Amino acid sequence: MAQPRRLTSGSEESARLSALRSYCVLETGREARFDDLTCLASTICETPVSLVSLVDTNRLFFKSAHGLDLREVPYPDFFCGHAIRQRDLFVVPDANEDARFARHPLVVESPRVRFYAGAPLISPHDYRLGTLCVIDFVPRQLQPKQLDILRILGRQVMCQLELNLQAMRDPLTGLYNRRQLEEGLHREVLRARRIGGTVGVMAIDVDHFKRVNDTLGHEVGDRALRGIADELASCVREEDIACRAGGEEFVIILPGAGKTALRSRAEAVRKTIERAHISAGEGMLRLTVSIGLASFPAYGDTGQAVLRAADVALYKAKAAGRNRVTMCTPNVARSFASQSRLTV
Ligand code: GH3
Ligand code: MG
Ligand code: MG
Repeated sequence: MAQPRRLTSGSEESARLSALRSYCVLETGREARFDDLTCLASTICETPVSLVSLVDTNRLFFKSAHGLDLREVPYPDFFCGHAIRQRDLFVVPDANEDARFARHPLVVESPRVRFYAGAPLISPHDYRLGTLCVIDFVPRQLQPKQLDILRILGRQVMCQLELNLQAMRDPLTGLYNRRQLEEGLHREVLRARRIGGTVGVMAIDVDHFKRVNDTLGHEVGDRALRGIADELASCVREEDIACRAGGEEFVIILPGAGKTALRSRAEAVRKTIERAHISAGEGMLRLTVSIGLASFPAYGDTGQAVLRAADVALYKAKAAGRNRVTMCTPNVARSFASQSRLTV
């Protein structure tokens, strides 16, 4: 079997992969709106198979697979990997006659692909995420009209991915929104429960933010919030989920982070904001944040409970003078339980 390999090396490919990840579509299940488009592509192109195929690090992930009972294959370098190197359709009339693919396991063995045509899925920032493709098991050609429609349907797949993204993001800061916070936390807690892992939560609130609005105006306040969100985004890792919980309150979910890691990551976030020159209007602002910490399973057995515990700890950080990190303790949780600031 050919070894899976990366398509290109370096920062270009890692930027493409992180753009792909930001759509949060990898690992999600089938959805009718994508299945409808592959069904249409396959009907119009008269091919037995059509796929929405996303080119991940070591695999092609099929968000939709019409006529093929596979969710992924471990070959990012297969047809779709080539298709995303160009802007227009990539067509292989007969894989057996094409030196790039003739010896490929999926050509030589089941399902014995012979014909391929793929439209690249190009994001608004010009990242090629994958393809909408049609596949046949005999050599063939498509009519110009069929090629045109494949292009159009490819654009429609990209629109659906884009709608997904917009539904998940906070428009002001670009961070994940409240809904994603709740869903993401729930998902990570379920995963941690399954594997016996941990999930860390940071509840972050900007100190004395009302003063910014009161002295400089709401618009400058908005710009400052965007600046803070950018600083927070610079602190997160690929597996983390950074959200705007509402107003000037943010939450970072850190899958796998235990108490020690959580505390040191939070301290790094606090220092980053403290040192940052936040652009706001004509000048720069210096701001600080207070951070409350809690984790699953130590401080709660559900996402909601952990978030509440982190919020209680945040309350304590505020009461102790702001610009500090406070870890939830069973005592803190008891004494502040009735004074929660964030509600989920
Ligand atoms: P504390 O240190 O106790 O957190 O003080 P604070 O002033 O930050 O706290 P408070 O919750 O009293 O005020 C939060 C302020 O954040 C209120 C509002 O003026 C501002 N705010 C909330 N959402 C937005 C927003 O979307 N844009 C702007 N510009 N300001 C916002
Ligand atoms: Mg607040
Ligand atoms: Mg505040």
